[in-house]
This record gives sequence, structure tokens and C-alpha cells, in this order.
Amino acid sequence: MQHINFNNIGKICYGPGSFYQLGEIIRPRRSENQGYMVFLVDDYFEDKDLANQIPKEGKDLVYFIDASHEEPKTSQIDELRDGILAKQGLPAGIVGIGGGSIMDIAKALSLMLTNEGSSTLYQGLNLVKKPGIYHCGVPTISGTGAECSMTAVLSGPEKKLGLKCEWTVFNQVVLDPLLTATVPTDQWFYTGMDTFIHCIESATGIKYNTFSKAYGDQSIALCKEVFLGENAGQSTENDEKLMLASLFGGLSLTYSEVGVCHALSYGLSFVFGTRHGYANCIAFNHLEEVYGDAVIDFKGMLKRFNVTLPQNLSADWTDQEITAMATIAIRLEHMWNHAFGPDWKKTVDMAYIEGLYRRM
Ligand code: NAD
Ligand code: ZN
Repeated sequence: MQHINFNNIGKICYGPGSFYQLGEIIRPRRSENQGYMVFLVDDYFEDKDLANQIPKEGKDLVYFIDASHEEPKTSQIDELRDGILAKQGLPAGIVGIGGGSIMDIAKALSLMLTNEGSSTLYQGLNLVKKPGIYHCGVPTISGTGAECSMTAVLSGPEKKLGLKCEWTVFNQVVLDPLLTATVPTDQWFYTGMDTFIHCIESATGIKYNTFSKAYGDQSIALCKEVFLGENAGQSTENDEKLMLASLFGGLSLTYSEVGVCHALSYGLSFVFGTRHGYANCIAFNHLEEVYGDAVIDFKGMLKRFNVTLPQNLSADWTDQEITAMATIAIRLEHMWNHAFGPDWKKTVDMAYIEGLYRRM
């Protein structure tokens, strides 16, 4: 058996207020390449106090990026890369400040600054040829695990698939739970559920092992405190817990894999542009047959926060749309293999997946 030899995050600076150390943290890297930093920042912060706290110096570039409409695109990465190189040459590093979208853009950009051609060429496992430049992630919403994963998920003309390799992993992350205090409750819920679902899927499949379990169990316990506990809800204390739950959920997945819910979710995102966390919730809500009690817990969390998910969505979908989603989903063979084992094709075919979509 081949064991995963994974690349963990280089350095982690954790704690309320740790964002203020960012300048000091990146300083030793500033002299590399053309000696300037690129900050990619969620545009929610453009007119907020945080914008004035970005440790920008000299030739540094700051891009405020809209993450509220679309998930990161291969074309978006290619354009950013070409623009930055044309303007000032190879930067010393990239700092991504935002949610999963901005962190994935930072990770992908770091790689694409040193690898030629379009990012569509590198969607897949270990297709990237050279290490990228120094990159640092600063999450401002908790749940995706993008702060520690070895993938940068991009939607391209043909597929939604990550640039996955060991160089994708951040060299540094700064985990400051205070940055997540302003997340709107619905978004907090959907992105938080991404973590819960990561851990349930990690635990329900052939790749699950003691490493995945140790991190996954802790992450699930934290999620239950945050979303079901006596003091459930957004608070300073729970923001800390959810930030660590997200990290641990991501680490659990490093040694395991997501499953049925994520495969279906990718189809929804690709065809309808449904946001990742929300798409997961829509799918997970109908997966009791696969994920059992975890779906009952999930429904309890929905109820606790008065979240109502849309019903009978599939009534408005055409057969072509359902087939298009199932086509995206069935290609995610590693997820089906994890969930159902090497003989997954005996259970899972286009009709089975289309049937799952028709329940939504
Ligand atoms: P996001 O980055 O898409 O942001 C969602 C919304 O929250 C945006 O409108 C943003 O402006 C807002 N927001 C973020 N921080 C805020 C704050 N502190 N206050 C107020 N508003 C804030 O959300 P996400 O759910 O973290 O990321 C989803 C993306 O992550 C998807 O593109 C998905 O594909 C990707 N993802 C990646 C991985 C991975 O391992 N790389 C894993 C899961 C998901
Ligand atoms: Zn996810």
C-alpha cells in the first residue's frame, strides 16, 4: 500500500488578533523575486477597517476581489497572472485574505505565476510542473478547509476541479477568528456546514483511518458545540471553535476523501453556479440513505438556525440539466470510490446519480 506523504502548512499563526502580526510574518520573504507582495482581499473589506490594516509597503499590489457572485474561474486566474507579470514581474509572494474563494485564488495564482499556459492545463492531480511562489492564507470565514488543503478549486470551461499537488498548500496561514465576526448568519451556516459534511464524508468511506478519525472526531465535536450546543450561534468563543473545526476537518480529509455529497454539489455548482456551502446543504439534506444519523443532526442544525432549504428544486430542472450535473458528478471517480469502494460502478451509474438529483 502506498501511504500519502503529505505536505502540511508551513507555518500557522493562530489566535484572536494574530492578523496584526501579518506584516512581521511576511517581512523575511519580501526580498524574493521582484521584491513586492500581492494582497488578494475579499472586497467585502474594501471599505472596512481591515483595509487600512493590510501591511502594504512600497511596490505592493492590493486587489479587492468580489467573491459574492461566482466561484473562482480558470480564466480569472489566468488574467490576474498575466496582469501582475506584465505590471511588475514575479512577486515575492501572495497573501490571500478572505474565504475559500479568495484562498483558492491565492493558491492557484501562486502556482500559475511559475507554470506556463492556462490554469485549465493543470486541473487535476499532480499536473503542476514547478513549485509556485510563497503564499500565505488568512481566512475570514470558517469551514472550507481551504486554509490547509492541497487543492485550489477552479471552474473551467469543461469542469470544476482543483489544481491539486503538494505545492498548492500554503507556506503560511494566519488564523485570526476575530476576522470572522462579521460573516452574515446564513453564510456562516452554509460554510460551517462544509466542515461538518467534510468530516462525515471523510468518515464514511474506504480511505478513513486513525489519522482522519482523530482530526475528524474533534472537528465534529466542535461543530456540534457551535451549531447544536447550549451556547450555539455566532460568538467570539464559537468563532474560535469553528476556525479550528475547519482546519481539523481539512486535515481529516488530507488522509481521506469527500464523498457523495461533494460529488453532487460540484454538479450543482458547475451547472447552476450554486455556491459550494449552499450546494452541499441542498444535497446533504437528501442523503439520509447514505449518511444516516449525520443527516438527522444536520436537520437539527437547520432547525436551530431557522434555515429553510428550497424544496422540489428538481421540478424546475430539465432532463438535460440533470444529465449535465450527473456527468460532472460521475467523473469525480475518487469520491465515488471512497464512498462505495472499488466496485462503486456496481451501485453508481448515471441513472443512480440522476435519481439523487431528482430528489432535490
Ligand atoms: P466565499 O469565499 O465564497 O465567500 C462567501 C461570501 O462571504 C462572500 O460574499 C464574501 O464576501 C463573504 N465574506 C467572507 N468573509 C467575510 C467576513 N468576514 N465578513 C462578511 N462577509 C464575508 O466562501 P467560502 O464558503 O469560504 O468559500 C467557498 C469556495 O471555497 C468555493 O469556491 C469552493 O469551491 C471553495 N472550496 C475550496 C476548498 C479547498 O479545499 N480548496 C474546499 C471547500 C471549498
Ligand atoms: Zn467542501
